[in-house]
Amino acid sequence: MSYHAPRGVNDLLPQTAQAHLWIESIAHEVFSRYGYVLIETPLFELTEVFVRGIGEATDVVGKEMFGVYSGAAAGKLVVGETLKADEQLSLRPEGTAGVARAVVEHGLVPPGSPVAKYWYAGSMFRHERPQKGRLREFHQIGAECIGAAEPSSDAEVIIMLMRFFETLGLSRDSMRLYVNSMGDATCRPAYREAVRAFILDNAESLCDECVRRAETNPLRAFDCKNPSCNTIMAAAPLITDMLCEQCAEHYATVRELLDVAGLVYEENPRLVRGLDYYTRTVFEVQVDVGLGSQNAIGGGGRYDGLIEEFGGKHTPGLGFAVGIERILLALQAQDIQAGKVPVPEVFIAAVDGKARTVAFRIALALRDAGLAVELDHQNRSLKSQFKLADKLGVSCVIVLGPDELASHTATLRYMDTGEERCVPLDTLTDILSEPIKT
Ligand code: AMP
Repeated sequence: MSYHAPRGVNDLLPQTAQAHLWIESIAHEVFSRYGYVLIETPLFELTEVFVRGIGEATDVVGKEMFGVYSGAAAGKLVVGETLKADEQLSLRPEGTAGVARAVVEHGLVPPGSPVAKYWYAGSMFRHERPQKGRLREFHQIGAECIGAAEPSSDAEVIIMLMRFFETLGLSRDSMRLYVNSMGDATCRPAYREAVRAFILDNAESLCDECVRRAETNPLRAFDCKNPSCNTIMAAAPLITDMLCEQCAEHYATVRELLDVAGLVYEENPRLVRGLDYYTRTVFEVQVDVGLGSQNAIGGGGRYDGLIEEFGGKHTPGLGFAVGIERILLALQAQDIQAGKVPVPEVFIAAVDGKARTVAFRIALALRDAGLAVELDHQNRSLKSQFKLADKLGVSCVIVLGPDELASHTATLRYMDTGEERCVPLDTLTDILSEPIKT
């Protein structure tokens, strides 16, 4: 039997793993400027955390979660016993619910405390049909700004997201930023009802799924994959016409501040994000090239009711998540190299066994001095060590043989020019720590 990774799940081979690391390092750099600190929550949580946080009627919770069962719980399932709530665990399909749970559990944002800003990076799991840019294990970077109610925080989060994409090198012209307001507990119920009524009025022309959504999650009908449903939903009532005064004012200020920042965006009154917790501002960034139909590279919004869902005091907040795999596809389409696998700077070639011991010692000293050093561990001939050094792409080879050992020296060969020089062993660290001259 030959083994392979499960469907929709990829190995991150060194080139890709390095690219992920590079993207995360840019996130760290950009987000730090805005006051964000790293948080890590578990890869799996009580299923109830996602049901509460994301919403039972969402596709993510209703159809896409991977369960996690311990031996005992799996045994109970086999015999058809019901699992207790604390035996029902799921792999996280997104990061916000876990962060909100942690905020409440550890009392991280008590009333009156300053805004807490967290970012995270890690695997998320959704049982979706795999295709380009859509995986079952994928990697997100996310940010959550908790305790902030003012529209300036919405604008700041969106600006930070766009700065992150720009710092990665994605051209501004290749990205489209969509914004909308989904209203709040005052105005959304009436809007939901209006969309529900619209769907029922048009039930004959809409797909079965959309008609079902009328009762469970009517706004999701805007996201139907079926083009004929999209055409019909284009005539549905728009939230922007039904926002209450406070929501309309909040949304207007967000747009005003995006203008202040010079951000180009499009208002999209049909943008409804797939998770239940959003209130007021929502946003999404799409790219034109490289991704086909899975063209959203990131999105997010405000979730003023979420912390209360987990038993906390009313605490407004908002955040976003971006998909690393999709960002990589977008970067590739724009010929942007995302991080390089590091190459050693120096290779130490040893002529014989005695020289190998010295080479080993020198390698340690040079690495401790901050240089990336490689040497042979396969008992290669000197010629083969040089070939390897060349293949690795090092700029300088240190040659150690009987003559060098006798005179406490080393021969340095610069690979670009072939130039050689003999230097005392105790000056190696100093010489090599200088920028290598060729
Ligand atoms: P969401 O949590 O659905 O708002 O997704 C945020 C971002 O994560 C999206 O814009 C995508 O870039 C990425 N993403 C979501 N689902 C997947 C998936 N199944 N495979 C790869 N990336 C995904």
